[in-house]
Amino acid sequence: MKKLEHIGIAVKNLDKSNLLFAKLLGIEHYKIEEVASEGVRTSFFMIGDVKIELLEATRADSPIAKFIEKRGEGLHHLAFEVDDIKKQMELTEEEGFLLLNKAPKEGADNKLVNFLHPKTTNHVLVEVVQEKK
Ligand code: ZN
Repeated sequence: MKKLEHIGIAVKNLDKSNLLFAKLLGIEHYKIEEVASEGVRTSFFMIGDVKIELLEATRADSPIAKFIEKRGEGLHHLAFEVDDIKKQMELTEEEGFLLLNKAPKEGADNKLVNFLHPKTTNHVLVEVVQEKK
């Protein structure tokens, strides 16, 4: 994997959390994007060369809604960038990690994404992202 690309944080109210993180980081979010297939609305902050992604559920059955129901708001995932997500997925499976999806999905911020099952990664949800070409 190339680098930490972003840190995902689950929030109940994106507008409120955008204000909070703007105050905390001293910068404004640079985009808001909805990923309808995942039932989330996201916003992004760039701090140094790492992004902070805030995630708000848009439906009750969204993975973010379920996460907040179980564990409350807070740190949700770490996303690492790769050049070739399919190659990385093969490698990752060979090494014994479990992938959440058989094929990469469309993510926010012009990315193809997949996740590693937290039970194989010390209970840290790890996202793998590749910039869409
Ligand atoms: Zn993410």
